[in-house]
Amino acid sequence: MAEVIEVGEGNGAEAIARAVEVLAGGGLVALPTETVYGLAACADDERAVARIFAAKGRPSHNPLIVHVPDVGAARAVAGTWPAAADRMARAFWPGPVTLVVPRGASVVAAVAAGGPTVALRAPASAITLAILRRLGRPVAAPSANRSQGVSPTRAEHVVSSLGARVDLVIDAGPCAVGLESAVVDVSREPARLLRPGTVDLEQLRAVLPELVPYDGAGDAQRSSPGQDRRHYAPAARLSLVESVDLADAARRAPGPTGLLLLDARPDLPVAWSQVLGRDPRHYASGLFAALWAADAAGCRSLIVELPPRSPAWSAVLDRLQRAAAPG
Ligand code: AMP
Ligand code: MG
Repeated sequence: MAEVIEVGEGNGAEAIARAVEVLAGGGLVALPTETVYGLAACADDERAVARIFAAKGRPSHNPLIVHVPDVGAARAVAGTWPAAADRMARAFWPGPVTLVVPRGASVVAAVAAGGPTVALRAPASAITLAILRRLGRPVAAPSANRSQGVSPTRAEHVVSSLGARVDLVIDAGPCAVGLESAVVDVSREPARLLRPGTVDLEQLRAVLPELVPYDGAGDAQRSSPGQDRRHYAPAARLSLVESVDLADAARRAPGPTGLLLLDARPDLPVAWSQVLGRDPRHYASGLFAALWAADAAGCRSLIVELPPRSPAWSAVLDRLQRAAAPG
């Protein structure tokens, strides 16, 4: 099993030192961020990067996000630093917005799936920022789970998904945001949203008005190789169902059946249920933990009440649609 350090009041310095030691030695460290736990390795170390792909079972055509502590470190990693990148980074970093920019020489080709660009982000986690600063090297970190599975928002998700495939887990409690970052390609003009996140289109366009919206159906998928249709899927068969059809769906689904709801439905007797409510931020922060819990409860079917189709819900809807895609 992996070594786990629970970060508490007194042991921050020890956790930082140990994480830096393992990363510098070519190891894999699960790091907390505000989005999900990341599986980190030095992005300038070819063997360490290869270990990330192997541990996740991730196809080599799916590029990794490189984590940096600040704009200065990002500029050092990028081949060129577009004006749009600078505006976005200054507005949203540290935070859940990833910027695709031309790739510099320090990042190994495998991180970028051999492509000419690299995705960069400064995560809003005090302990992870401290680790990145102390290490002084760029760190590649995709979500710390097996490929296509549910992303980890708690340290125990990492341990149950990756086990001994990860050397060290830094446990800083549940992730506050709970969904992966928005990915914005600023390497081309006009800039384009490749993956929706909890910072929504309106907020991104307040800084970059020319930004082209996310097109889940086609464009974004072709230009962002990792955007597989099926992703974030629990073991339970997930279906997205309108509120009025819940009772019917619950009756027909092969059990044990779980329900993921916007509002409580005591009239529906099922093996497992959870209410995530109608606030999209609160819903996002609890979604992946609910998918993990439904699996742990042994659900064979998981019926998810369809959230409103409004911009505030776009990141949640994107993840739910991928989780429901046939395997
Ligand atoms: P993950 O770290 O597991 O959340 O996945 C990162 C995602 O970011 C990938 O699946 C890609 O869709 C996207 N991405 C990473 N690097 C690039 C890049 N250079 N160009 C376009 N998209 C990227
Ligand atoms: Mg992932």
